[in-house]
Amino acid sequence: MAKAANLRRAIPSVERLLRAPTGAALAARWRREHVVGTTRAVLDEVRRAAREGTPVPPEDEVLRRVAARLEAGSAPRLVRVVNASGVVLHTNLGRAPLAEEAIAALVAAARHASSLELDLASGRRGDRDRLVEEDLRALTGAEAALVVNNNAAAVLLALNTLAVERDVLVSRGELVEIGGSFRIPDVMAKSGARLREVGTTNRTHADDYRRALGPATALLLKVHTSNYRVVGFTAAVDLPELVAIGREAGVPVVEDLGSGALVDLSALGLPREPVVRERIAAGADLVTFSGDKLLGGPQAGIVVGRRDLVTRLAANPLRRALRPDKLTLAALGATLRLYRESPDLPAALPVLRWLTRPLAELEEVGRAAAPALARRLGEGYRVTVVPSECEVGSGAVPAVPLASRALAVEHPGVSAERIAARFRGARPPVLGRIHEGRFLLDLRGIFAPAELDVDL
Ligand SMILES: *Cc1c(COP(=O)(O)O)cnc(C)c1O
Repeated sequence: MAKAANLRRAIPSVERLLRAPTGAALAARWRREHVVGTTRAVLDEVRRAAREGTPVPPEDEVLRRVAARLEAGSAPRLVRVVNASGVVLHTNLGRAPLAEEAIAALVAAARHASSLELDLASGRRGDRDRLVEEDLRALTGAEAALVVNNNAAAVLLALNTLAVERDVLVSRGELVEIGGSFRIPDVMAKSGARLREVGTTNRTHADDYRRALGPATALLLKVHTSNYRVVGFTAAVDLPELVAIGREAGVPVVEDLGSGALVDLSALGLPREPVVRERIAAGADLVTFSGDKLLGGPQAGIVVGRRDLVTRLAANPLRRALRPDKLTLAALGATLRLYRESPDLPAALPVLRWLTRPLAELEEVGRAAAPALARRLGEGYRVTVVPSECEVGSGAVPAVPLASRALAVEHPGVSAERIAARFRGARPPVLGRIHEGRFLLDLRGIFAPAELDVDL
């Protein structure tokens, strides 16, 4: 009893601590409730430690702990990381970095009031889709366009608008899962449309679709198998053939293109990815794709295609729940403008710049960064430039690796896993990858040696 009373006396009260000059300074710097809560938590720990025999620290020390905790707690949760993972469009790392023009547009939209839904000529209410529709039409050749929060939302909206309680025919070879949470059968179920699988995993023929067609058929859905390839004894119905089947039956054809390129990447020396304009020209009634994959813009889902169908999608109440915000539209609009106007897209769009950098440039950055990095890592570390392969990621250009260069970081007594963890703990954190037991820092996303000059 006496001991407990002594302990109570030895431990300062929150009020007393916050009246002390350092305490008052904390209460001026931070929200008072936050300082009080943090101080209570620190005092609880002091009390618990004291019961186990640790002496109660002086008031200054308690306040020092409170200050340290407040500082640590206020560090942002979302931090910049260095993407040396070898996956250019890494979903866990935020996918596409934006073009400078897109960043500027986003900041301006954040700071000021804007003409988001205002037709300045008439002074009447406008439609936020108009901000990007003209550019999307020009870039894809489609009659109409609409933007939602992401491509998953675009697919959901299309299915829910056009096929609720009716059949959607999809090839068994195209029932994809993207990154765990987007699965065609699950999105279909949530949309209220009925999935009708046709063909087999490796082979689907035109007759498979024809046999499955009936009065309940609302749509033919084609899904770009964006993160895998079926190889060997395979057959698929290509878009023009599917369009012919749809036209014959009077059923629209919708294509989920996943990444969806606005320009032909093979002209830039990259593996070919379906181009939205070509899919529209081939007769797809609607095409959906992401804004933050190969397009290189903000997270968004874009639907382009027939005017009457887009109008129906826009009138669906779900559309209100899935609409993009002004920041997205500002950044997307500026990105699309670059596609229309920039004479040198890889110079303007970071994603294309990453993908098209020559190997000699990667090697040069690697050679320049290696010695300093080895020195920072310490005794026994070896850092060498090695050939490597990277991928576009986010399901673009599946199974086609891109030649790259990496820094291999090795130490005879330290495992690759421990080296990887050390880089993740760096400031800023650096994300590499382990390949065949070696830790690699892929150089495709590293533009200057200084980017690897991190606090390890
Ligand atoms: C990536 C992808 C999606 C999901 O797109 P999000 O923009 O991430 O919602 C859907 N379908 C395909 C084929 C994809 O590649």
